[in-house]
Amino acid sequence: MVHTSGKELDFIKEAFADNWVVPLGPDVDAFERDLETFVNQRVDSSPLHKKVAAVNSGTSAVHLALIACGVKPGDEVLVQSFTFCASSHPVTYLGATPVFVDSERDSWNMDPELLEEAIKDRILKTGRKPKAIIPVALYGMPYRIDRILEVANRYDISVIEDAAEGLGSRYRGQVLGTFGQFGVLSFNGNKMITTSSGGAVICDNEEAKKNLLYFATQARQSYPYYEHEDIGYNYRLSNICAAIGRGQMTLLDQHIAHHQHVQEMYCELFKNVDGVEMHVNPSSDFDSNFWLCTAFLNPALQIRNQENAYKQVILRNVGGVSGVTRLSGSPVTSCQPNDNVEALRTILEENNVESRPLWKPMHRQPVYRDNPAYVNGVSEGLFKRGICLPSGPWVKDEHVRYVVDIVKSAIS
Ligand SMILES: *Cc1c(COP(=O)(O)O)cnc(C)c1O
Repeated sequence: MVHTSGKELDFIKEAFADNWVVPLGPDVDAFERDLETFVNQRVDSSPLHKKVAAVNSGTSAVHLALIACGVKPGDEVLVQSFTFCASSHPVTYLGATPVFVDSERDSWNMDPELLEEAIKDRILKTGRKPKAIIPVALYGMPYRIDRILEVANRYDISVIEDAAEGLGSRYRGQVLGTFGQFGVLSFNGNKMITTSSGGAVICDNEEAKKNLLYFATQARQSYPYYEHEDIGYNYRLSNICAAIGRGQMTLLDQHIAHHQHVQEMYCELFKNVDGVEMHVNPSSDFDSNFWLCTAFLNPALQIRNQENAYKQVILRNVGGVSGVTRLSGSPVTSCQPNDNVEALRTILEENNVESRPLWKPMHRQPVYRDNPAYVNGVSEGLFKRGICLPSGPWVKDEHVRYVVDIVKSAIS
């Protein structure tokens, strides 16, 4: 269910009245300006001057950023393994190879030391440098961007920040997506704000933006007829979706404050529950938007009925509206969350609470079984122990208490 400010429909009506029902227009421009104003804020006085290009999804934003980094068939791109597949799939769209890098324990995001190890080893093994580095703000938590940039700069490799889940999260007071050469945002239905589907690339200047938009609009040239020197894509944001986005932008600060409030409540209420631990900001440098509030369960924690976890093939979508169109043949895989996590998920579901496991690391996904990966066990360990709890704009204080009560009562 979308949480609206009411302004979305006003903007849409205006767009229809002015006949701007196309993938460009005044609402796209205005939405980009709103986003620029938002991402360029900083706690210190020096202003940022980043530009934003609005596109039709976060996935296309990643794709375009990779193209702008010059990623070509046969190249390698270093991608945080602990992520949603949209961080790495566009690398494969380009005929390049995602090379996965595991996470550090406290932020859950790309481990800067492992990143450097991976770069050195790829140079040794292939004789070439990876073309880009993609750290991911998983569940909104910032990555250690200062350390990642230090490594990236040492080897002169571009950084594409995947801040699709981290809209409004900050590291040392600066908004995520504005540190690297490119930053990616998503406005999918389940993200911090939504345009139904949509995304954006944050970039350094007008020239970089023009280049992104060139590839987002079928690589057109300024002739009276269609003339193509490059392969382009149909990735520009619809003006109608941008109209929704303008309305949603008026809610963004409120949404972030809400998610952070829900997170604080979970922390407080789980404080004295043995075996359940919330994932929190590792230090005052980190300021997560807490898009999803995540907890991890001690493997020794006994949850009611956990001996019956994974007995049946799932016949419905798990956790949300994302379309699952293929039934799996087996209730188990070789890498899955612990029985107590699945048992807890089932109990929450029986009580009308939507939860879901953490994202399964890409280096454990069958489709990426042959890709190089630099691992330390962190993301796989977290995947097996973690669970995402409700945190959206409709989650009221009493719902948080209800969720925590169900978790407590599920412990046997
Ligand atoms: C949602 C998401 C994306 C892609 O966004 P879409 O708008 O759904 O295409 C990319 N990366 C991460 C980490 C995401 O969670």
